[in-house]
Amino acid sequence: MASVKVAVRVRPMNRREKDLNAKFIISMEKNKTTITNLKIPEGATGDTGRERTKTFTYDFSYFSADSKSPSFVCQEMVFKNLGMDVLKSAFEGYNACVFAYGQTGSGKSYTMMGNAGDAGLIPRICEGLFSKISEKTKRNEASFRTEVSYLEIYNERVRDLLRRKSSKTNNLRIREHPKEGPYVEDLSKHLVQNYTDVEELMDAGNINRTTAATGMNDVSSRSHAIFTINFTQAKFDSEMPCETVSKIHLVDLAGSERADATGATGVRLKEGGNINKSLVTLGNVISALADLSQDATNPLSKKKQVFVPYRDSVLTWLLKDSLGGNSKTIMIATISPADVNYGETLSTLRYANRAKNIINKPTINEDPNVKLIRELRAEIARLKALLAQGNQIALLDSPTALSMEEKLQQNEARVQELTKEWTNKWNETQDILKEQTLALRKEGIGVVLDSELPHLIGIDDDLLSTGIILYHLKEGQTYVGREDAITEQDIVLHGLDLESEHCVFENLNGTVNLIPLNGAQCSVNGIQITEPTHLNQGAVILLGRTNMFRFNHPKEAAKLREKRKSGLLSSFSLSMTDLSKSCDNLSAVMLYNPGFFPVKGPICLRLEFERQQREELEKLESKRKQIEEMEEKQKSDKAELVRMQQEVESQRKETEIVQLQIRKQEESLKRRSVHIESRLKDLLAEKEKFEEERLREQQEIELQKKKQQEEIFDRVKEELQRLQELNHNEKVEKMQIFRELEKLKKEKDEQYLKLESEKKRLEEQEREQVMLVAHLEEQLREKQVMIELLKRGDVQRVEEERRDLEEIRESLLKVKEARSEGDENHEELEKAQHEFVEFKRKQLEQC
Ligand code: ADP
Ligand code: MG
Repeated sequence: MASVKVAVRVRPMNRREKDLNAKFIISMEKNKTTITNLKIPEGATGDTGRERTKTFTYDFSYFSADSKSPSFVCQEMVFKNLGMDVLKSAFEGYNACVFAYGQTGSGKSYTMMGNAGDAGLIPRICEGLFSKISEKTKRNEASFRTEVSYLEIYNERVRDLLRRKSSKTNNLRIREHPKEGPYVEDLSKHLVQNYTDVEELMDAGNINRTTAATGMNDVSSRSHAIFTINFTQAKFDSEMPCETVSKIHLVDLAGSERADATGATGVRLKEGGNINKSLVTLGNVISALADLSQDATNPLSKKKQVFVPYRDSVLTWLLKDSLGGNSKTIMIATISPADVNYGETLSTLRYANRAKNIINKPTINEDPNVKLIRELRAEIARLKALLAQGNQIALLDSPTALSMEEKLQQNEARVQELTKEWTNKWNETQDILKEQTLALRKEGIGVVLDSELPHLIGIDDDLLSTGIILYHLKEGQTYVGREDAITEQDIVLHGLDLESEHCVFENLNGTVNLIPLNGAQCSVNGIQITEPTHLNQGAVILLGRTNMFRFNHPKEAAKLREKRKSGLLSSFSLSMTDLSKSCDNLSAVMLYNPGFFPVKGPICLRLEFERQQREELEKLESKRKQIEEMEEKQKSDKAELVRMQQEVESQRKETEIVQLQIRKQEESLKRRSVHIESRLKDLLAEKEKFEEERLREQQEIELQKKKQQEEIFDRVKEELQRLQELNHNEKVEKMQIFRELEKLKKEKDEQYLKLESEKKRLEEQEREQVMLVAHLEEQLREKQVMIELLKRGDVQRVEEERRDLEEIRESLLKVKEARSEGDENHEELEKAQHEFVEFKRKQLEQC
């Protein structure tokens, strides 16, 4: 008994939440998680149902919201806590399951798969598995076999994420094995030898996953993904053989939010509906299991008939064992820290809280043979103890003691035999599977053994023989003969006419010849041979009278298939080389009849008869199997039918409710449509009126526009004319001014010339007058001398003369001054000259 372990993990705020200025509402302390409802004010009292904070206790509360916080939990720590537990369970032989639950974008894929360079649980678990395997293999503690498969549930359909061919990957059927429970039919399982193999498959699967963007998280997947590891372990545990098989389911669920919360529409809404169907069923299963577990732990409660609806969804049906069955299960609930996601986060926390109550019943999954050995050993130990007791009370010779000893010996012998058988079986299988040239795989219900080397398949004529013998013909020679041959034979046979050294198969660069030795009986395709004979694909070989083989050459077969495809191979050559028509894959030995071959002779007739008998038997066997299968199918179909009937009934009820709603909506729609119609009419009338007015206004506007244009045109024309006239007048005026200017210039030139000549004349006059003044001054000096001389008598007269001269000089100076100022005074000058002449005449008279 073990409860489902529940962990809650809170991620950092994402960009959208930060942009919305969201508040942090999650706090964690040890294994407790508390959520705060910010809508309820702090310190509010009363209604206890609406507390501001709610606290839940889980097995683990992982705070991954802030890498700087001291309580931050990284991927590595999650692995150490939970992943190591899964590994421990696997090595102990228990089934294990981890599933991540939470709204889209809350960190499910991050926790399960992780990001590049920040691996999540699945890669870490696989890596841990292989590192432990290599440790144990090195110490020779055990041998292992690991297979993985990866599927996706999308719209309630199962898809194989690892099948390479595109066909038959979608919508795989789920069937139920009577012992092993539900399984996916035709799901590919891949044998992996190391972590690199797993990594490659994981990457391929992740690329295949269906994703659709939603309003909340662009890359979030809308599908459920289940990664399964089938892990087989064989070892000796204190001399006891031990073979365990552990199935590990690692599940990344799709977003748990309601379809409308993400703003999803259309097709996605349908997806949402289906996803919810799986998740709602998961919720119902968890609730039912929690109820069951609580009833079981409470002795006072009455045994209730609780129905667990595993079959209601693909997800719960496939995880039946992981939920409340034979498995150690862990649930990781991922949440956002932001107040904007309060509703979804609270619902996730409640969901996780319910899951805590589920109690599983994990058991170690042992091989039945090993179980038998274990039980026999326990029986031996018990018998030995009884015998020891018998010794003490001297019962050794009694018949009971004897029979006990006999039984003990028998048991011991059987244990030894079984152990040897089991060890051989496991070791040989391991060795064979390790051979690079041989591969075992499932195809439908058949098992296919693929080989790359040329080989012989033994066709045993013993009707009771069930094994298949395959002899590889390696490069070089392979000797065939009896056990008693002098040299050791590679293939040891016995039977009629088989020589001790019978023949040799020689494989040189892929060409195989059969060489009979010492005239031994060898035939190829019914023809006796004595010389080395080349063997073709599909050849039937008879050695002696009873050892019959089919020769397969995979490379040649591949070439022939190519030829057949391109039509190069005639039906004749095909019938010779490719004897078995049903043998499509010639290199593959399917578990079916080898087919027709023409061989002559009585032994061949007998063989042919026996072959036919065998064929009949096989047909009967396959018919029986078919019937069994059909019965099984019928059973599951019946159950399916009942389930479908229930579904149909509930759908019918739903449909009735929906129809009622539709009718109501139709009525209200009709009322609304009448109202809308009348409103529409009013609106149309208004519209018409409005249109008319608009037309009229438009016409008026057009008219006004025209008028304005005409006016503008006239005004422009007038203005132009006026401007032209102005221009002309201006030109005439300009000409006149120009002419006047010319005239003025001429006048100015003339004036200038006149002035120049006048200036010259006046300068001449000035010179003359200066000379005259100089001459007069000379005369004056002479007079003064004369006056000196005539001093005595004539002083009066001289004085008068001097006064007269002084006057004349004064007048002459005035004339001169006037002339220098440009004022020509000819009268004054003439008067002065006349006075001077008068003075001279007087002087002369006086003399
Ligand atoms: P889901 O699978 O639940 O839809 P994802 O795992 O895709 O959500 O997470 C959404 C985004 O948040 C991714 O970009 C992822 O890297 C980031 N994220 C989620 N959990 C954490 C975490 N604990 N630490 C850091 N980033 C995280
Ligand atoms: Mg995801």
